[in-house]
Amino acid sequence: MAATTKHFEAVPQVAADAEVRGRNLIVMKFGGTSVGDTQKIKDVARRLVTARETGQRVVGVLSAMGDTTDELIRLAQEVSPQPHPREYDMLVSVGERISNALCAMAIRDLGHEAVSLTGSQAGIVTDTVHGKAKIVEVRARRLNEELDKDRIVLVAGFQGVSTDLEVTTLGRGGSDATAVALASALGGACEISTDVEGVFTADPRVVPDALKLPRISYEEMLEMAASGARVMMARSIEIARRYGVPLHVRAAHGKTEGTWIGEEAGLVLEKAIISGVTHDTSEAKASILAVPDRPGVAALVFRALADAGVNIDMIVQNSSAEGTTDITFTLPKTDLAAAEPILERLAKETQAKGVVYDPEIAKVSLVGAGMKSHPGVAADMFEALAEAGINIEIISTSSIRVSCVVRASEVERAVRAVHERFRLFAEERVNG
Ligand code: ADP
Ligand code: ASP
Ligand code: MG
Repeated sequence: MAATTKHFEAVPQVAADAEVRGRNLIVMKFGGTSVGDTQKIKDVARRLVTARETGQRVVGVLSAMGDTTDELIRLAQEVSPQPHPREYDMLVSVGERISNALCAMAIRDLGHEAVSLTGSQAGIVTDTVHGKAKIVEVRARRLNEELDKDRIVLVAGFQGVSTDLEVTTLGRGGSDATAVALASALGGACEISTDVEGVFTADPRVVPDALKLPRISYEEMLEMAASGARVMMARSIEIARRYGVPLHVRAAHGKTEGTWIGEEAGLVLEKAIISGVTHDTSEAKASILAVPDRPGVAALVFRALADAGVNIDMIVQNSSAEGTTDITFTLPKTDLAAAEPILERLAKETQAKGVVYDPEIAKVSLVGAGMKSHPGVAADMFEALAEAGINIEIISTSSIRVSCVVRASEVERAVRAVHERFRLFAEERVNG
């Protein structure tokens, strides 16, 4: 019998993959634009039915319709500047209930059995961090029972129930995590349908001649997603990589093959130097000015921010002759409200000169596994930016990524300049 409980992001895996792998099941996820109106929901219903008619078990995971989640967040902020986290999740989880229930109705009208479930009913158990909860396990019993009744099961994406029995949400783009976790727990394939034809060498809205990648490794996709390619939520790629779930990202409407994401070993990537250029405008820069340059200060600052759940990205520290230093770092704009009181307090405690904030920044990144063995990639990127007259404010690297902070107003130009410089490499990769 198939295992019915599977542990996820926070605790080790317990379900035996071999037991459930290879079952004829597909999890099909559809993003917000792809379910933006009732006609599109009917189209999605038809796609799910078509998959069911090939004999597969089908689980649909739909995002909220269009801008519904943004609208709900706006309502919350109109009522309260810092909405209560529990009530925030009660509110924003509603969008996905609407789209999935409508889709279940449409499927029934096509003559098939269907049932929609909330994240909680589907057994998606999370930790207790409201607004960005992590999935800890999937209790798949109810899901399996519904599938055994020959039903198409619709699961509201982006949400779960915490170990304290509260409704939680998984963070923006969280329906991707729902879909991947379900594919892993139920042992099926995972198809992510969206409003572009796959993963491109840059956001096709910014670089119209960006190229569609036929395949990309988990490692590269994770770096691209984490550095701003919002086509997939980064955490969903972490789950996919950990449990070996192959992903296919494709257009929601139309038949074209999209992008396959999998283990590097299973993909032909020898020539692949560059997978893409990404950008991210969601972060702000903060600097603590003239802090005493002594052991323990950085530890104090970043421990306090970590304890408040603030995600820090890039960090630079400049030392000066007067025994003080400036600590500059980037953080999500959405974490600024939580970080500000902590930083003001720390600045006083350490007798720093003060704290300054700059939300007008953006990050442009170049990602590619081939960087490991090709020196000069970073230099080429800096040259491309210099030739475009764009100033670099902070640089950070990983073994397969180079990121630069630039002015937000220049980010699209920066992406195009870097993409143009690496276009040949990208073409080589796409055309083999
Ligand atoms: P969904 O609602 O389907 O989850 P998202 O808006 O979250 O869709 O993600 C799809 C969008 O991601 C595309 O419309 C595109 O503008 C953007 N995007 C950013 N970078 C990339 C990239 N490298 N390849 C494809 N799309 C990208
Ligand atoms: N509706 C949620 C959001 O807009 C989750 C998702 O679409 O994946 O972030
Ligand atoms: Mg998304």
